[in-house]
Amino acid sequence: MRVAVVSDIHSNLAALRAVLSDMPAVDELWCLGDIVGYGPDPNECIATLLEKKHLAIAGNHDWAATGQVDVSDFNPDARRAAEWTASQLTDVNREILRRLPPELSIGDFTFAHGSPRDPIWEYILQPAQASVNLSFFSTKYCLVGHTHVPAIYLGPAGKSPATGVRPQTDEVFSLGERRLIVNPGSVGQPRDGDPRASYLLLDLESKEGRFRRVEYDVEATQRRMQAAGLPYSLWARLAVGW
Ligand code: ZN
Repeated sequence: MRVAVVSDIHSNLAALRAVLSDMPAVDELWCLGDIVGYGPDPNECIATLLEKKHLAIAGNHDWAATGQVDVSDFNPDARRAAEWTASQLTDVNREILRRLPPELSIGDFTFAHGSPRDPIWEYILQPAQASVNLSFFSTKYCLVGHTHVPAIYLGPAGKSPATGVRPQTDEVFSLGERRLIVNPGSVGQPRDGDPRASYLLLDLESKEGRFRRVEYDVEATQRRMQAAGLPYSLWARLAVGW
């Protein structure tokens, strides 16, 4: 089985379409949350995801748009975007987001938007934090998003301690015996200084993963955000991937 793992699409339809065009034929899409929030096309991104065979979990921005999480902790621009998103969602799409589970386990994989310890909110940014989180899931591997930065965290093996790696484009890693927490990066708002959309391919037969980066029409998304009156800081950052 071949899978494409996407996360943090953030209503960026141009980026999502570019990622879908880039990927080879896959059996399923796995989406790690934050389908909406920040960007200009929440309903279209949900519809595009629904056209594919997929699994999806909730992110903090999905539930902010449905009122299931309190947006008072969001910064003012993120809050404004969450309120705008809530005003745009169709009733059907609001219900789809509302019903997303916060966590899922399928075969060797656990999915959590933030972390297995705190699926909606925790950011895994350091190997030490990833190491603590290894005891909060029982499968071999865990897939997370939320930081918008691609990463592989390897659990301890023998005398090797837990460690973290920043993968490069097209870097291949193996799904072996060592436990892993893997972040595919963000489709719609990358934050590692590379503005290209990020996602991950998994081949469950050959037991390999491959990180991908894809150029998309950033200016098209920026123009749509401006037209929607979304905050400057949210569309300006897309050009620099931050
Ligand atoms: Zn996000």
